[in-house]
Amino acid sequence: MRTKQFKAESKKLLDLMINSIYTHKEIFLRELISNASDALDKLYYRSLSGGVSGISRDELYIRLAVDKDARTLTVSDNGIGMTAEELEQNLGTIAKSGSLAFKQDNEKQEGIDIIGQFGVGFYSAFMVADTVTVESRTQGGEAYRWQSSGAAGYTVEPCEVGFERGTVITLQLKEDTEQDKFSEYLEYYRLSSLVKKYSDYIGYPIKMWREVSRPKDPEAEQPEYETVLEDQVLNSMVPLWRKNKNEITEDEYNEFYQSRFYDWEKPVRVIHSHNEGQATYDALLYIPRKAPMDFYSKDFEKGLALYSNGVLIMERCADLLPDHFAFVRGVIDSEDVSLNISREMLQHDYQLKLIARNLEKKIKSELKKLLDTDREAYEEFFRAFGLQLKYGAYSDYGTHAEQLRELLLFVSSKEKTPVTLAEYAERMTDSQKAIYYACGESVELIDMLPQVDTVKAKGYEVLYLTDNVDEFVMKTMRTYNDKPFVNVCAGDLDLDTDEEKDALKAENEAAAPMFATMQQAIGDSVKEVRFTHKLKNHPVCLTSMGDVSLEMEKVLNAMPAGQKVHAQLALEINAEHPIAAKLKTLDDTTLATYARILYAQARLIAGMPVDNPTELSNLICDLMV
Ligand code: ADP
Repeated sequence: MRTKQFKAESKKLLDLMINSIYTHKEIFLRELISNASDALDKLYYRSLSGGVSGISRDELYIRLAVDKDARTLTVSDNGIGMTAEELEQNLGTIAKSGSLAFKQDNEKQEGIDIIGQFGVGFYSAFMVADTVTVESRTQGGEAYRWQSSGAAGYTVEPCEVGFERGTVITLQLKEDTEQDKFSEYLEYYRLSSLVKKYSDYIGYPIKMWREVSRPKDPEAEQPEYETVLEDQVLNSMVPLWRKNKNEITEDEYNEFYQSRFYDWEKPVRVIHSHNEGQATYDALLYIPRKAPMDFYSKDFEKGLALYSNGVLIMERCADLLPDHFAFVRGVIDSEDVSLNISREMLQHDYQLKLIARNLEKKIKSELKKLLDTDREAYEEFFRAFGLQLKYGAYSDYGTHAEQLRELLLFVSSKEKTPVTLAEYAERMTDSQKAIYYACGESVELIDMLPQVDTVKAKGYEVLYLTDNVDEFVMKTMRTYNDKPFVNVCAGDLDLDTDEEKDALKAENEAAAPMFATMQQAIGDSVKEVRFTHKLKNHPVCLTSMGDVSLEMEKVLNAMPAGQKVHAQLALEINAEHPIAAKLKTLDDTTLATYARILYAQARLIAGMPVDNPTELSNLICDLMV
């Protein structure tokens, strides 16, 4: 029989487990029981969909057994079982979920004390065992034995077994050491307390024989005792989400979340609700603290685990969550959802739609509550998932904008901290006509924009938008409390009084020929050159004239297969700056040079590349010498 090697990644995890100094090695039992429970779920679900017949839920169980002389602990189930190929596939290669968590963990955090906090799966058995043997058989199939003593590899061979279907995992426990008393895992009381601690809610009985000594003859005066075996069920089998809130500790909520959804961080918020009425269901939802690595990629699959009366129907039911709340993890259990409903039918299921609508409202209100009561936690949440909320506000032509806008945060010029729109509106002065914002790479760069200076000088607050999607969100929302959102770098920044406007108009008309020369020198990139009063001490700026701002141009043009768009730009020159007076004195050739330099400067200020840096440098040098 040939010994096969583990896949590289699996070997790494395996080594980590074998050499683990982790103090809560006990979690291996939770992992094996959880796998067994999954195997039972899979079998039961398949029987409902007609894949296997003659299965009743009552016959499904998990069993723990020990042999003290042989120092073995076995965990068995009569679930779906594995074929020889599946043994290879599943145990020679770490499964997707487990491997992902492992990779993240390994890259981000040194040390291994995080082992217990997320699902490391099957290999955790090697924290307590020298040799692990898995015997497995699918319904009507042959039995196979997978065996490994760690790093050297594993074997798979046909074998004889005394069961018709399922999996038996036997752990040859390690020798006891000073720190670790592995023999504990041979004791009934230790095992039953571990089951209570980690696996109580598992939906199948976890059975174990217990030795009890009892009098042979209860009537006898000096009875003789005998040892008999009683079959015990170690878990209460009530799923966590079906229990009363006040019976569940915070630790239990977190433990369930972390092991069920492979997160080593505790969630920011737990939402547990029981609903009756048009739709009857239990919901146990979690708002994670950090975005999973693939969250903002197309690989990410949103969805909640869907149960019908405690039976898992689907691990990720996408229809239960709108995209803007895709980060929510959790479980829905409803008796209204039929057990043998197909995936295709689910999409059209009326009850499911109703539940989804309720959940959306609930999640929104819980997030609002978090925002109102624990700002720090909310900001942490928003750093992870704010982008998703913004996409939500912008997508579907703003259908969800109204619902989501109260949840959005933007950094404000006031204290350079995130504020809500309500907080901004609250501080608006009576004279303020709009909600002002400016876009850029970073808060620091935006803060240096000439236009921002001007608006701030008026005593108005400016929202600093640094995410690509931000300005699209503003354009989609259009107004808040009847005040329009206005980009301070756009033409409609209406700050001047009527007299000031008239004066500026006259000045611009008088300088029209000069501006025509300048525009010609710059070319098509700008539609207009003109004076402005809005620049305080700065000489120039670029102002967008149409619907597309410079930032939007950048974003739209960066999209694959997007049509190229161009912002319509005006080069504005500060009428009060000495440069304005200087321009009026220049001959046409020098004016053209100045125009090109000023335009390049304005682009740099706006965070845009200049078209021809060499030319710019030469032009400046010519002026200098
Ligand atoms: P995960 O549980 O995260 O998928 P594991 O390493 O714990 O990763 O298990 C790998 C795979 O092995 C599982 O996905 C499952 O397909 C299979 N497996 C493990 N234990 C059992 C079992 N008792 N019965 C059937 N299949 C199992």
